[in-house]
Amino acid sequence: MQNLPIKYRPRRFKEVIGHSLAIKAIKNSLKKGGVNAYILSGIRGIGKTSLARIIAKSLNCLSPKEVEPCLRCTNCLEIEKGIFIDVIEVDAATNSNVEKARELIRALSYGPVKGKKRVLIVDEVHRLSKQAFDVFLKTVEEPPPKTTFIFATTNPSSIPDTIVSRCIEIPLKPLDKKTLTKQIIEICKKEKIYITQKAAEIVAEHSEGSVRDAITTLEELRLIFSDGIDEEKTEHYLGYPPSITVQKAKTYIETGERDKISSLIKDLSEREIDPLIFLRRTIKEIAESEIPYDKKVRINEILLKSTKFIREVDLPYIALETSLIKASYIKELTYIEKVVSEIRKAKNSKNSEPTYKENNFRDKMRDLQEELATISPRISAQVKNGISVYESLKLVKIKAGKVCEGKEDKIKEIVKKHLGDDFKVEILINSNGNEKSFKVPKIVEKLSKDLGGEIRLKLSSKGEKL
Ligand SMILES: [Zn+2]
Repeated sequence: MQNLPIKYRPRRFKEVIGHSLAIKAIKNSLKKGGVNAYILSGIRGIGKTSLARIIAKSLNCLSPKEVEPCLRCTNCLEIEKGIFIDVIEVDAATNSNVEKARELIRALSYGPVKGKKRVLIVDEVHRLSKQAFDVFLKTVEEPPPKTTFIFATTNPSSIPDTIVSRCIEIPLKPLDKKTLTKQIIEICKKEKIYITQKAAEIVAEHSEGSVRDAITTLEELRLIFSDGIDEEKTEHYLGYPPSITVQKAKTYIETGERDKISSLIKDLSEREIDPLIFLRRTIKEIAESEIPYDKKVRINEILLKSTKFIREVDLPYIALETSLIKASYIKELTYIEKVVSEIRKAKNSKNSEPTYKENNFRDKMRDLQEELATISPRISAQVKNGISVYESLKLVKIKAGKVCEGKEDKIKEIVKKHLGDDFKVEILINSNGNEKSFKVPKIVEKLSKDLGGEIRLKLSSKGEKL
């Protein structure tokens, strides 16, 4: 039984899963005879080395169809076996020093021995030392005849710009879950492996876009569960939390049931479920949930922050719990804009509560005052300063000074006439008011009596004596 990752490694362009744009770019370059140097970048297990070998085969195949290698000629077969003299594969991680680089370059200088092109595949090229890169740079700038470099890297930003500028860079994006799931199911059909759709999806998700990882996981599952692979077995094998636990976490965050979050995490730690995987699945569950958009974004903002450090902390389950509990407070939080607007609203209603809100209130008050002034200008002024209109209670309260005493009925009548008959009018004569407390000096009193005049008090708008 051949192992699946080797069996399903693509051997020609049409067997490559996904990467259609990358393949198109490579094929176009090969139709023109290839370029001096390629950089194939992407995560591990995405198929960089497989693709490099396909390019090497295409460049050396004795009977290619367009640019697709035949896989039958001696050159194709030898390249596949890794014994073709003109295709050299090195790992920069173990050949990073300058001497090794010089050695390689010397070997290249003679051109191909039996093939059409010499191909140097350098894996993990970003791990070359600076001096080794300098050696390569000269050769890439002026390559020996019939030589092609293929640099594979998981970290293209670590390759000096001088090298990058002389290569065509082919980025290989991680495969999406749908494509990977389809590929897993395809393989299972061919291999007669029983797998549920959901289990295939979990394997695809777990491999994070790497086709090699997906097939390796499938291989492991097949060996352990020969009677078939379902969701539960897959989750258990990968240390995944059961889906129901993830759904519970989502619900508790949403409802703010923090004690339940704590016991859920305790349970996870007892079962040694990977906290990062749990967190990621919870984030996904929330992202796909019916929680209102603004809240879900804010919850996931908090949870995503923890994904960065949860593997590094000593107490990952506590970190997880803290993060989930923090997120659960979103339920009770509200936007600052909303708070401000509510404060404003409350403030406005407080201002207007005792005051008559109608637009023509001013007019009514003016008419009221005018009529009161016909009795006495001072009564009019007193009422103006002391009146409170509680519109909702249909109540008018007037705090007035002694000057209004005895005139209550008349005032009430006038107020009702102008503000409305349905108002109840209460008049409170304040005997401790300004007038009473203002002691008229004896001399003034005497003068007033002597002259037969009247004492008039002039009050400022604040009621202070002037
Ligand atoms: Zn061939």
